[in-house]
Amino acid sequence: ATPTAVMVATGKGASQGVLIKGGNALENAHKVKTVVFDKTGTLTEGKPMVVGLKRFSNVPIQEFCTVAAAAEANSEHPIAKAVVKYAKKLHQQYGSNTEYVTELRDFEVHLGAGVSGNVGEKLVLVGNRKLMLSYNVQLGHEVEDYVSETERLACTCVLVAIDGKVAGAFAVTDPVKPEAERVVSFLRSMNISSIMVTGDNWATASAIAKEVGIDQVFAETDPIGKANMIKELQMKGVAVAMVGDGINDSPALVAADVGMAIGAGTNVAIEAADVVLIKSNLEDVITAIDLSKKTLNRIR
Ligand code: ADP
Ligand code: MG
Repeated sequence: ATPTAVMVATGKGASQGVLIKGGNALENAHKVKTVVFDKTGTLTEGKPMVVGLKRFSNVPIQEFCTVAAAAEANSEHPIAKAVVKYAKKLHQQYGSNTEYVTELRDFEVHLGAGVSGNVGEKLVLVGNRKLMLSYNVQLGHEVEDYVSETERLACTCVLVAIDGKVAGAFAVTDPVKPEAERVVSFLRSMNISSIMVTGDNWATASAIAKEVGIDQVFAETDPIGKANMIKELQMKGVAVAMVGDGINDSPALVAADVGMAIGAGTNVAIEAADVVLIKSNLEDVITAIDLSKKTLNRIR
């Protein structure tokens, strides 16, 4: 496209809340044959909430929540915020006048798995199955059943282990964006396929994918895995757009022919992307591709 055409399209995009950083993105977007969507915060609202609580030990419910919140209060993860919010509410309901989080030492983040720390003499683990297994915490049938059940319902199961035993779990749900299914189906009508990639587990990922009409899913994928998946598609000659919001999406956003960041996402993702969807609305994935198509047709 000519510099003028790029300028016009960029201006038009900006007025519609689609920030296009330079001519390359505009040149590439019309060739896109596959759109790879991150799950959490991209296809979903990214505002998870606790919808269930199950205890597997006789640790009192208040203590259980307080200890879980103590670990999660140190984390920036949206799931952590949901757990803290829930603990706070529960604490208020019980009318306690003590702090709803206890003191925690040796806080550690386990990427794609959860968090850990010490409360008093006790080790506290909050996260998924992978986290529990890495600390040799046995789940047992009752816990396994609860995990499968919640995941089948498109929830993420957050396990809480205290002193080497699973004391309980939270079922956390993150609703899908209202426009997600419509966008996937419209892309299909444009002959563009959609793929989901996520760090979350296979069962939850598959349940969410089904809700939005995506049939290709890559779950339990780390940031480098997300980028590699895109490179593999490119090696087959497919032009790929990646849509994501998280720090864990940035290598993939850079690798893609067009990286699109959700406006409400992290700064790292916004910086890594070629296009920023200011309104955080997935419809604007189509707006960006359309804009590119129109710009390039005009000069032919
Ligand atoms: P995504 O790619 O979906 O944004 P992440 O890579 O951030 O997911 O995390 C993958 C999984 O690790 C989460 O679905 C959750 O099960 C677990 N996890 C990560 N951080 C936390 C946390 N702070 N508390 C509980 N679980 C966590
Ligand atoms: Mg995300």
